Amino acid sequence: MKAKTRIAALFIIAALMAFNMNIYFAQEMTLDKETESEKTEDVIIPVLMYHNIAETYPKGAEGANITPELFEAHMLGILERGYTPIFVADYYNSVQKGESLPEKPIIVTFDDGYLSNYEIAYPILKKLDIPATIFVVTSTVGATAESGVVGNSHFTWEQAREMQKSGVIDIHSHSHTHRNMTMLSPAEVQEELRLSRYLIERNLNKSCFVFSYPFGGYNTATSNLSKYAGYRMQILVNNAESGEDYLANNTKEGIEHFTRLTISGDMSVEDLFGIIDLAVENTKKQDGLREIEKNLTKKS
Ligand SMILES: [Zn+2]
Repeated sequence: MKAKTRIAALFIIAALMAFNMNIYFAQEMTLDKETESEKTEDVIIPVLMYHNIAETYPKGAEGANITPELFEAHMLGILERGYTPIFVADYYNSVQKGESLPEKPIIVTFDDGYLSNYEIAYPILKKLDIPATIFVVTSTVGATAESGVVGNSHFTWEQAREMQKSGVIDIHSHSHTHRNMTMLSPAEVQEELRLSRYLIERNLNKSCFVFSYPFGGYNTATSNLSKYAGYRMQILVNNAESGEDYLANNTKEGIEHFTRLTISGDMSVEDLFGIIDLAVENTKKQDGLREIEKNLTKKS
């Protein structure tokens, strides 16, 4: 190779290297930017908890029942107020994977796995295109009220599969036998967590990684066991009865403090939004207080 050609070849190689470096740095920079925007993301999300839907129910059972008409009015209200319903899993993906969330997100959930979720809620949700997350008690899937095992009938695995396949419903765990986890031995807790997850994954052919605590019964031990059993999110309950303020969730806080609002059958649409607005306000206030605390501890 002549000296001139060699110099030209070296020059080309150097130019190529510089070009690659530029691409490399440009990529680094966009990655940095993305990480930054994730960090600054601060979305507040109210989460609604429903149970059974029934035309009639005993007096005093409003906490776990709502009529089909009122439930549909709540759902229509959510859309009219400009909320965009998302799955619990979308919240997880937003916090953990940095996936973006829609404007004014809200989450609709059901506990226990009642047949009315399939017969009444599911058609309404499908019609309105509202995604909802159902936490199912796996030992009572398909149990009927006539059997005496449960008060209200529960949907079957086949119905669960149909809902899961539709893309409107996402099913996760509410334990195997619906006992307060804080009252059980570590071995029993492990069994509740493991068996319910196994049954959901096997019957619905999906990943089950969210756990909703029966009666909201939760402590450090159950939390650790839940993580150990493969759950990546733990769902709690939050209501005025528990002596806490109504709260929503802030993506900035991550997935550890995920809480829900108990929505009962005696709440009108106005009541519902009164609670949602209050929860959002309380969450903002709490975040403000945490921010002040953080700054104070930094300074001291
Ligand atoms: Zn329950």
